[in-house]
Amino acid sequence: MPSSFIYVLLVTLLAITLFLAWRNYTLKKQIRSLTERIRNTDKEKLPQDLPRLEDLSNAVAALQKRLHTEIDDAKSEQSKLSGILEQIPDGIMIADTQNRIQFVNPAAARLLEKSTEKIIGYTVSETLRHHEMIQLWQKAKKSGKIQNEIIEISRYQRFFQIIAIPDQYSPKEILLIIQDLTNLRRLERVRRDFISNLSHELRTPLASLRALTETLQDGALDDPPAAQAFLSRIETEVDALTQMAQELLDLSRIESGQIKLNLQESTPQKILQRAMDRMKMQAERADVTLALSCKSELPSVQADIARIEQVLVNLIHNGIKFTSTGGTVTLSAEAGSRLIRFAISDSGIGIPANDLPRIFERFYKADPSRRSGGTGLGLSISKHLIEAHEGKIWAESREGKGSTFYFELGSV
Ligand code: ADP
Repeated sequence: MPSSFIYVLLVTLLAITLFLAWRNYTLKKQIRSLTERIRNTDKEKLPQDLPRLEDLSNAVAALQKRLHTEIDDAKSEQSKLSGILEQIPDGIMIADTQNRIQFVNPAAARLLEKSTEKIIGYTVSETLRHHEMIQLWQKAKKSGKIQNEIIEISRYQRFFQIIAIPDQYSPKEILLIIQDLTNLRRLERVRRDFISNLSHELRTPLASLRALTETLQDGALDDPPAAQAFLSRIETEVDALTQMAQELLDLSRIESGQIKLNLQESTPQKILQRAMDRMKMQAERADVTLALSCKSELPSVQADIARIEQVLVNLIHNGIKFTSTGGTVTLSAEAGSRLIRFAISDSGIGIPANDLPRIFERFYKADPSRRSGGTGLGLSISKHLIEAHEGKIWAESREGKGSTFYFELGSV
């Protein structure tokens, strides 16, 4: 019996050993397969059958899928965010705890007039090179609180609003936002100048009207020739005021898109001739010669002739106004490819190069003493009118030599 007991025991032990060996083998195989699957996560070479560990394997597969989706989502969020940071006009920079710039967007590089390579890795002081900006960043770093200031950078002739925001979790890391307020500031200045120009322009004729009427009341009425002279001066002042009111009205109508063009066909020569006839008297009074140089056979233009005449009258008026006695204002036109280019050229004082890009702005006057009179609206109105015809207007000038104003209209 003991021998049969030992025999059964041996057989049982053998069976158990074989079972364990087999189990060990299959387990190893499954683990290898699982390891392989995990290793190949991004290659997506996933073995299909994982006996027994199937559940675990399925769970890993699901996890893998979810991770893939999350990584894809994160990647797309990141690319959206970096797209936004690339596009926004505000400059963004991040300085790390070592004061070195870790991140900069193209707007910040543009505003600081540096390339991205010359910013990343450099210190904040090396990058900003402006004591007020550096101070603001230091204050934010020290206090851990948001700092915000408008700073004038005379080096770039700009106004920047700088916002320094300490990181919530690592307050020594600072996010810097740079907003360019130059245009806004410039607009504010133009508006302020306009109000002061306009009140000056109104006060001068109103003061002379008062003086003229007082003189009439004080006895000049009894002297008919003197009264006549005063009345004609009153008329001139009233005309100037009427023109100013008309220009303001025109501009507000044009800007609010209320203007309708009444298109007609006419030749450049006819258009120039009519404008010249209207301005003849004024030119004679100023002792300035008006000349016309235009071939009669030029193609016609289709335009609102009254509006184009308004532009020409304004340009000729300026030409006369800014040319001293004995000078000349020449009107001309020539044909380009499917367009006519008009030019009004004078031998006057010219326009300083700094002012030239701005003279078409509303209320802008190059002559700071404003001796020339006028509201500074004429060129702005002209620009709107030419652009309403889908044309283009610009000026070329040399200080002391004279100016030429060009505009182009499509030809028929
Ligand atoms: P205004 O003549 O009423 O001042 P404009 O809009 O017509 O306004 O012109 C704006 C400014 O452009 C003028 O004040 C002047 O400084 C400059 N300018 C315009 N035309 C001429 C010109 N022909 N020669 C010199 N400066 C000019």
